[in-house]
Amino acid sequence: MIPRGQLPLRCWAEIDLAALERNLRRIRASLPDHIRYVAVVKADAYGHGLHQVAARLMHAGADLFAVATLSEAAALRELGPGWPILLLSPLVPEEDDYVSRYDVAVTVSSVDEVQRFNRVGAQSIKPIDVHLQIDTGMGRAGVWHTEASAVYQALLTAQNLRIAGISTHYSSSDDDPGFTAEQRRRFRTALASFPDLDVSDLLIHADNSAGLDTIERAGPFNAVRVGLLQFGILPRRGTLLVDVQAEPVFSFHTRVGLVKNLPAGTAISYGQTHHLSRDSRIAVLTAGYGDGITRTLSNRGEVLIGGQRCPILGRVTMDQTIVDVTDLVSVTSGEEVILVGSQSDAAISVGEFSAWAETIPWETLCSITKRVPRLYRTSLGI
Ligand SMILES: *Cc1c(COP(=O)(O)O)cnc(C)c1O
Repeated sequence: MIPRGQLPLRCWAEIDLAALERNLRRIRASLPDHIRYVAVVKADAYGHGLHQVAARLMHAGADLFAVATLSEAAALRELGPGWPILLLSPLVPEEDDYVSRYDVAVTVSSVDEVQRFNRVGAQSIKPIDVHLQIDTGMGRAGVWHTEASAVYQALLTAQNLRIAGISTHYSSSDDDPGFTAEQRRRFRTALASFPDLDVSDLLIHADNSAGLDTIERAGPFNAVRVGLLQFGILPRRGTLLVDVQAEPVFSFHTRVGLVKNLPAGTAISYGQTHHLSRDSRIAVLTAGYGDGITRTLSNRGEVLIGGQRCPILGRVTMDQTIVDVTDLVSVTSGEEVILVGSQSDAAISVGEFSAWAETIPWETLCSITKRVPRLYRTSLGI
């Protein structure tokens, strides 16, 4: 048997870590010097591979890493001690004891959580770092902004905890700057209600990628939490963030398996969902929804072959996808097909792929399955 790693590729993703590093540097350059960079690397670094991405971002100068779960924090700790890690999501009580083992900071939203972690801190060699999250309208984690002072005061008396930061999260930074401004105002008002607050040693953070568009250059904020943009994807289609020309990091590839002709008038695919209006040449691609070409791309997505756009015909199936190559001069079995990325002068962005899939880039990146190997390639700077 051929070892699996040496088999030819049928469907794969390429991750350009040099582009990732350049993106971080560009984002940093667009921000005032005092702003610290929290690299959000949850969900396997948005499907790009946690270890590879985090290692490169450490090299590029990220100040802190944010993850969603303890197992992600544990995986990140394998890269070494010392890097500050922040857990963004609430923990279930059985997880509490592992917080000090992996030396992670936790996000707290309630007096109950303060008491829970204070008990854990009593058993650990050093206090547990906590970031108090204030809910300014998202309605997810965080203490509701008008009640935040009670949790802050509980933190002041919790001897086994160290307040490391205060944060909030925007619900609409990608499409409603007015509400984002209101969330910033609620956050500042909550901070002003905290007795004896000294922000000088704290990380005060709110902005995700889309927040950078309207970031406050003065004021209490001194850190940003960036996920999507460091991967070169804009949170809104077609909108450029001020001063940040991020380049794509991720591309998604497959190949032509079979090329064949079918007569006009034929209804093809599962459910006979595509009717061929002309004599057609079709290519059968060696990937399907089992790889992450979601079924919503049926009869609407496009792929690149030989630098030309080819429409998807009929339903995407688990392992194979049919595309129309009638207008191409030549197509051969084995040829590379781009699902996301560029070929010659043509390009399909994660944003365009996601629009066909009726989803958002974040979900697209999380939907590339385990079957798809991630290959790390480094491009030269531009
Ligand atoms: C995922 C996440 C981010 C990063 O958001 P992007 O839009 O990907 O930049 C920031 N903050 C929190 C709390 C998150 O959950």
